[in-house]
Amino acid sequence: MAKAPVQKPVAKPIAKPAAPAIPPSRPLQSECLKLFGNPSRPQFGVHIEHVQPPWQMRMGDLDIHFLKVNRCAAPSLELVLKDIWESCGKSQAKIEALHIDRFSGDWVVRQMRGGSMTSMHAYALALDFDAGENQLGQHHGFFKSVSLIVQCFEKHGWIWGGRWEDRPDPMHFQFATVD
Ligand SMILES: [Zn+2]
Repeated sequence: MAKAPVQKPVAKPIAKPAAPAIPPSRPLQSECLKLFGNPSRPQFGVHIEHVQPPWQMRMGDLDIHFLKVNRCAAPSLELVLKDIWESCGKSQAKIEALHIDRFSGDWVVRQMRGGSMTSMHAYALALDFDAGENQLGQHHGFFKSVSLIVQCFEKHGWIWGGRWEDRPDPMHFQFATVD
């Protein structure tokens, strides 16, 4: 008598904890509120990821151990930082000569400086470096379009504020499309 075919157990999908939706690419500035919700609410914290810079970063008298960015920007930021670090031959002295150790801020809920719109810093989609020598209103300061930091951020899809015509902001790098 023929044996009944052995029934293989059907693999059940493993339930994963709910994660916030991550846009497949750089979000538009105008869609951030809809995508991520109001950043002043405690729930916004689910969008924040901590990225560790490979070199020693400072802000005034603070050592900066982690950069706080939106989860949708974190994989790209990891690549930017790796690229900068390797291009500097993993030399802290070289990083300091290029002012890339001078951190000036990440996630903070505020308006654009000199404007009324919500800053991309509010959505943890922007980082500032060396504010002292790259002031708002100048097309470039210490950082220029050929600077390593600018080239590495732009290579990985970030927007450098130094290129903005009406409101240049050379300290500023953001992972959101101006629209
Ligand atoms: Zn900024």
